[in-house]
Amino acid sequence: MSQQLSVVETFHSLQGEGLHAGRSAFFIRLGGCTVGCAWCDTKHSWPADSHPSRSVESLAREAASAARDGAAFAVITGGEPLHHNLDALTAAIRSACTLPVHLETSGVDPLSGSPDWITLSPKRHRPPRPELLSHCHELKVIVHEPADLLFAEVVSAQAPQAHWLIQPGWESSEGQQLAVDQARSHSRWRLSLQSHKWLGVR
Ligand code: SF4
Repeated sequence: MSQQLSVVETFHSLQGEGLHAGRSAFFIRLGGCTVGCAWCDTKHSWPADSHPSRSVESLAREAASAARDGAAFAVITGGEPLHHNLDALTAAIRSACTLPVHLETSGVDPLSGSPDWITLSPKRHRPPRPELLSHCHELKVIVHEPADLLFAEVVSAQAPQAHWLIQPGWESSEGQQLAVDQARSHSRWRLSLQSHKWLGVR
């Protein structure tokens, strides 16, 4: 029987953050998150059972349609997508189209699925699993206060293979200053901004 997943929304837009910012992307936002970040901007995604269930095949068909409309990759996001086993979803997308599959995760759960690109955004209050640190392609640390920079140093030392991105918390003036200073004074760190929010797009 086909796997059903809680889905908050799907949409075709631009990736707003990280190394792939500005590229056309098809987003699948899965429901469910227990990580509990105080500054979360998708709190509506937290209860998995308040969102409709969809089959992985229907999500893959939509990804294929987005590919025909110009999407460069599919992004599985959330919520915390790895609260679900993603094996069937990544396999279905691969069967339906040639879009690379990107995964955005906090890294608190075991890795499943076979994403082509892993964006790990670790949380200080719920540190990520070591295997996510060692497998991620980009490490994106959100900064609100100086303790976040210390956390960024600790987790980046465990992800030497990754691109390191430092991103200020939205509307955090202290976070902005800290992130700019970090990128300016450390050659491996790159500033990431939530460009979609600045532009007012999804
Ligand atoms: S892990 Fe993501 S979805 Fe979950 S609470 Fe934190 S920011 Fe929100």
